Amino acid sequence: MGRDAPAAPRMAAPAAAHAAPAVGDADRRRARDIHVAIVGGGGTGAAILHDLTQRGLRCTLFERGELTSGTTGRHHGQLHSGARYAVGDTDIARECMEEVTILRRIAAESIEMNYGLFIALDDDDVDYTAAFERACSESGIPNRRLSTTDALRHEPGMNPNARHAVMVPDGTIDAYRLPLQFLATARAGGATIRTFCEVTGIDSSDGRVSGLTVRDYRSGRDERIAADVVINAAGPWAGSVAALAGVGLPITPAPGTMVAVKGRLCNMVVSHLHPPGDGDIIVPQRNLSIVGSTQWKVDDPDAIRTPPDDILRLLDRARELVPAFAGAEFHAAWTAVRPLSGRTDAGGRELSRNFQVIAHASDGAAGLFSVTGGKATVLRAMGEAVADDVCRFTSLAIAGRTADTPLLAHREFFRRQERVHEPV
Ligand SMILES: Cc1cc2nc3c(=O)[nH]c(=O)nc-3n(C[C@H](O)[C@H](O)[C@H](O)COP(=O)(O)OP(=O)(O)OC[C@H]3O[C@@H](n4cnc5c(N)ncnc54)[C@H](O)[C@@H]3O)c2cc1C
Repeated sequence: MGRDAPAAPRMAAPAAAHAAPAVGDADRRRARDIHVAIVGGGGTGAAILHDLTQRGLRCTLFERGELTSGTTGRHHGQLHSGARYAVGDTDIARECMEEVTILRRIAAESIEMNYGLFIALDDDDVDYTAAFERACSESGIPNRRLSTTDALRHEPGMNPNARHAVMVPDGTIDAYRLPLQFLATARAGGATIRTFCEVTGIDSSDGRVSGLTVRDYRSGRDERIAADVVINAAGPWAGSVAALAGVGLPITPAPGTMVAVKGRLCNMVVSHLHPPGDGDIIVPQRNLSIVGSTQWKVDDPDAIRTPPDDILRLLDRARELVPAFAGAEFHAAWTAVRPLSGRTDAGGRELSRNFQVIAHASDGAAGLFSVTGGKATVLRAMGEAVADDVCRFTSLAIAGRTADTPLLAHREFFRRQERVHEPV
């Protein structure tokens, strides 16, 4: 991961022969006095909130609208095994596969483990297959080549004229429930969540952040809130949030369109066995089938519209993978915006899908961290990386445990409402 964190971690002292209090206990007591403000209530903010709360820090999350109202509530819903990225970047692919394994353990109710088929439609795809399988294997992604006859037994909805298929452990994520599981667990651990609260200012003194200005749309009031650390997890809006502290952030907001038709036309995730491009993934979500996506760049993530040409192109591509798309009833088309790390003069597909945690100490804003890039599949890992950097910054030797902690059910979020609007 691209990290830019300050100061090396403070190492725990060697254990004394007789029971002096463990360094971890002292750090845990000190952690309770550190207030972390997290900007953004998408999947990334939710995972950060959970991780830091579990490590014992006092955390408040601010979301300008409803929870998951940004990109998180609108993504394609694929649980990426990493196969899609393996040929280009084995590190991302490996990370996806590791997170699939972890999420199945800690958040099973938000995941449908329906597996995926990458199908070869022409000679180029057939030629690409060996490199694809090799890259998957190098990334630790189980993969199995199937004849068309065998693949059709697993997925009768796929194109019967495919040349062959490769099965991988892709799946479907419930884009809404997964973050709610993180949020419910964080709140049960003492975190505060404030929705309809937009961060409009980041305060600092002597080169270090000291708090936020927040507009609470429910009360109509502006509030000043003290914070020792501010995390910018505002997804495609992260550039605007960083600017509140006078900091420039290398980020490219890159929208993409998806189209849903009525009916579950396939039960597995069906992808085109070729380098990533437009309209090459179909994800079944409950009783819908969703094809996506496209990609372009924008300056303002709030000023996007769904291009009509995208819808027609996506439906064309979908028919090649799952022919029943031809007669299916249109359900919806929408666009979401990726918060890609880095800047580019080209279209954006060349930018890495990896995530970055950026510490802004060298920008004159020590204590401010921004997270860019990534994907919903790796949100837990993003939360852990940010929390590791916050612990380094605050000299807390407290390790993360989120990989081994089953999350509360998403319903618990609604059963325990009491802290949602509680002021800090
Ligand atoms: C077309 C498309 C398809 C995708 N498909 C998949 C997929 O199939 N699988 C997968 O794993 N990933 C997928 N992704 C990626 C995934 O959706 C994103 O990486 C992820 O949702 C980003 O979450 P986030 O929390 O970082 O951002 P967001 O969900 O956008 O959250 C940021 C939040 O910050 C809030 N905010 C902004 N400014 C302020 C402020 N000043 N004060 C308070 N709050 C503020 C916003 O309202 C927003 O809710 C897809 C992305 C796109 C665009």
